[in-house]
Amino acid sequence: MGFGRRLPEFITGSSSNKFTVTAAAAFIVLSLVLIATVCSPISYLPLKFALSGTKPPEQTCESREQRSSYLKHRSPELPPYLLSKLQEYERRHRRCGPLSESFNTTSPLGTHNDFSDGGDCKFVVYTPSQGLGNRILGLTSTFLFALLTDRVLLVDFSADMDELFCEPFPNSTWLLPGNFPFRSDFYGGWFRDVYSYGKLLEKKSPSSSSPWNSTLLQIFLDDKYSEYDKLFFKDENQGFLEKIPWLVLISDGYFIPCLFQMQTFRSELEKLFPNNKSTVFHQLGNYLLAPSNQAWSLITKFYDAHLAKAEQRIGIQIRVFDPQATPTPVVMKQILSCTETRRILPRSRQSNETSKADEVTLRNEKSKSILVASLSRKYYEEIDWMYGTRRRQSTGIAVYQASHEGKQHSGDNSHNMKAWMDIYLLSTSDVLVTSSMSTFGYVAAGIAGVKPWIVMIPDPYHPRGANESACERAINLEPCFHFPPWFAYPDPPGTGGPVGRCEDVSWGLKLVGGHKTRR
Ligand code: GDP
Repeated sequence: MGFGRRLPEFITGSSSNKFTVTAAAAFIVLSLVLIATVCSPISYLPLKFALSGTKPPEQTCESREQRSSYLKHRSPELPPYLLSKLQEYERRHRRCGPLSESFNTTSPLGTHNDFSDGGDCKFVVYTPSQGLGNRILGLTSTFLFALLTDRVLLVDFSADMDELFCEPFPNSTWLLPGNFPFRSDFYGGWFRDVYSYGKLLEKKSPSSSSPWNSTLLQIFLDDKYSEYDKLFFKDENQGFLEKIPWLVLISDGYFIPCLFQMQTFRSELEKLFPNNKSTVFHQLGNYLLAPSNQAWSLITKFYDAHLAKAEQRIGIQIRVFDPQATPTPVVMKQILSCTETRRILPRSRQSNETSKADEVTLRNEKSKSILVASLSRKYYEEIDWMYGTRRRQSTGIAVYQASHEGKQHSGDNSHNMKAWMDIYLLSTSDVLVTSSMSTFGYVAAGIAGVKPWIVMIPDPYHPRGANESACERAINLEPCFHFPPWFAYPDPPGTGGPVGRCEDVSWGLKLVGGHKTRR
């Protein structure tokens, strides 16, 4: 199946759906509501939206239809078992999600008005943490957890995020209703104290005859998680969670490698990703995350105006965590050392002198566009000075930057929109150069389906050895999980299991498929 296509099941529809469609059609005719194109339970959405406080999903998602002509390296095929699991998931989401009858009666917003049993539906609510790259990785991991545990994924996007993506699941919404109980407390210390699974494990083993019988628990997997929170990744603690209908999961990282390390999930994961453990994020991320029409319009306008004509698109993502400790010249030196030694770009000239040989080399190259993604404008200016404006006539290289936000903001929708735009523009690249430890770069490479060159950016926490190469080619498209618990490390390392070490973060874990670990 292509990612751009809807899954076949909801094109054809089940017999019960057909009945509902007929009823809905009658309703439409009688009430003379001009929504004739909507021929499913979605036809009575407005009342439900009013009740639940959510807004209707977009009816079309342009990026899903068009993105294959922009993401040239995206692999469109999903393994058959994963495809069937996604179809099953979509049915579950429609049956249990916020637009369903079931949700209106059994959720805490419904007639029970508490967290009773949720009927036969179980939920996991994703609550984001940190920047957009971190959030996308946490969200994708939570979705896989939902697939594995037969839960429905809902997202608690605040106003700074809910304009970025199309609704992923047809005829439903993944947005947690605004008036959901405790919603404003999800990030609070008291909520964590009372509801987090880590606290529960700290106080008492769930297998003992604990009086603790809440139907809602928080799973706290943020990078500041405690040793008790980490016990979520122990097989013996999953059984207790199965019975809890409502989980609220906070995460800022790609914890999928830890799921692969658990016996509870290993055999199902092997079935879902039989030969392709190195494209798990690529497949799930592209299934789940399509830019909203608003984001897509920004992305395609920029792409069509600047990047479309080049024979080769090079994306350079520069993320500096501590700009004071790592000044621009130090970073530029690493970037150029990478792009020159790996022959991604011709030898740069750092002065005004021009050698004839260089000019000839440059002229013989394919025409290139370089997209510089960075919070700072300085890197764009440096690279443009070396390869761009001054040489454009003769070399066929042009350098662009879509935004330069200065610094990371929080709670700002237009800032996140620009970040999403940069991530997606990077994903249109033929060659990607990303920055070590950056989840922003992991997401761009994973969506693109392009193995990046990861530049080892020095910083105080990660000093680089004098003999270390400036960059390393990622072994695959998988992101690195930066904060695994000690018990998730492969033992012994590098013996050919699905999980190994990351190229850029020595303490991190990533899926390596059949590959041996690198260090
Ligand atoms: P990480 O910190 O590099 O792992 O990536 P995150 O995406 O989690 O957090 C960094 C945040 O800073 C992003 O979400 C953006 O808000 C901002 N940011 C960092 N680099 C860029 C960039 O190249 N372009 C834009 N538009 N924003 C960026």
